Amino acid sequence: MKPASPPPAIDRLLRAVPDLPRALTLTEARALAAEVRAGAEPPEDWVKALRLRVDLALSPHLRRVINATGVVLHTNLGRAPLSPEAVAALGRVGPGYSNLELDLSSGRRGERLTGVQALLARLDAGESSVVVNNNAAAVLLMLTALAAGREVVVSRGELVEIGGSFRVPEVVAAGGARLREVGATNRTRLSDYANAITADTAAILKVHPSNYRIVGFTGCPSRSELAALARERGVLLLEDLGSGALVPGLGEPTVGEALKEGSDLVCFSGDKLLGGPQAGLCSGRAPLVRSMRKHALYRALRPDRLVLAALEATLRGYLRGDHPPVVNMITMKPEELRRRAEAWRKALVEAAAQPGVAAELKVLKSDAPVGGGAVPDQPLAGWVLGIKPAYGSVDALAERLRQGQPAVISRVSDGRVCLDPRTVLADEEAALVDALRAALGLGAEPTRPAGGPDEPG
Ligand SMILES: *Cc1c(COP(=O)(O)O)cnc(C)c1O
Repeated sequence: MKPASPPPAIDRLLRAVPDLPRALTLTEARALAAEVRAGAEPPEDWVKALRLRVDLALSPHLRRVINATGVVLHTNLGRAPLSPEAVAALGRVGPGYSNLELDLSSGRRGERLTGVQALLARLDAGESSVVVNNNAAAVLLMLTALAAGREVVVSRGELVEIGGSFRVPEVVAAGGARLREVGATNRTRLSDYANAITADTAAILKVHPSNYRIVGFTGCPSRSELAALARERGVLLLEDLGSGALVPGLGEPTVGEALKEGSDLVCFSGDKLLGGPQAGLCSGRAPLVRSMRKHALYRALRPDRLVLAALEATLRGYLRGDHPPVVNMITMKPEELRRRAEAWRKALVEAAAQPGVAAELKVLKSDAPVGGGAVPDQPLAGWVLGIKPAYGSVDALAERLRQGQPAVISRVSDGRVCLDPRTVLADEEAALVDALRAALGLGAEPTRPAGGPDEPG
């Protein structure tokens, strides 16, 4: 260990950076000095080191990344990107006051869900709705308000786990209801449900297998059969639909379909196939929705004005026929994806003084899952730009992309770093090509060759 050179006086350091916020800078200067006293190598330039620390403390942890994985609903990457209209709505409502709970015509207290509710009704997604923090919260509130202390009948084939912490048996228990499992993993008959219903049954709960499919010798009653049984026996048919498509053609049942076929209430996410902000929605029969809204738990789960502003704007888009980005991404034609991947390849090859030296660039056919608990059995057919670096590993290249500015998240497959145009927004393409150039060491300002001797991996 080197002998630590004595740190300059804190006062002198602070005087050298009068533009930085004083309290934070003082804390960082003291921390830096303490680290050096404890044996860390002293910086060559103390002022520069201090500026760097203050910058780091002030830089946002949460920042935008370019999703080049092709996975449209990537929970780790924040699921649905918002439409420009939804972003504009955040900008309008965020900085000022709003009529969140004020009825402007009467001057009396209003309801925060009025706008979203009217839009969903117009979109055939339920006569009445409640909005909460996320779909897990919607299911929890639904069960708590309508089935607490009673039994809920669920098929053994629908005891879903979504991403670790949401498991149907646990949510039923958290809602204070008792789970009554029926049928087998692969098959449940209508009679299994019928035999399980007693005076103590509050509801049949139907759960959409969002992130898996059971194939082979399988079967379960249709939604209309379950609805008829529920009506006949005087219990509710509640449904956790998961992704909540509002338009057909995305490979998942729509909210309108589920309601038309007889579910009394349908819960779904705001940021899956609906394409809006994180939220949980529950739509259906008005008296049931009213019970949910009156429940004390709703107060703890209700959304704020920013979520509602973005959600309303997303729904207004559907009403105009403008679909949010996720819908456009899922329905993007393979030829379009191929053309864009080809354009990226050309831009990179032309930038390299010696084409093909730094890396092998190929446009390849490649499928990607929709992700986020939707359409698990139907990967989307597409094209990617596949990069095989000449030096270093693909993992090292993927890491350089991830740690770049902007961060680019790629997919590593078959010994290549793959970049999928499906999830790259049009206004991100130039930045993506620049980031690739930097990570590959191409372009006007070559960095060291990819995977030099000091490169990990
Ligand atoms: C995604 C999903 C959930 C959880 O929704 P969040 O909005 O992430 O809370 C619950 N149930 C099903 C069936 C899902 O697909």
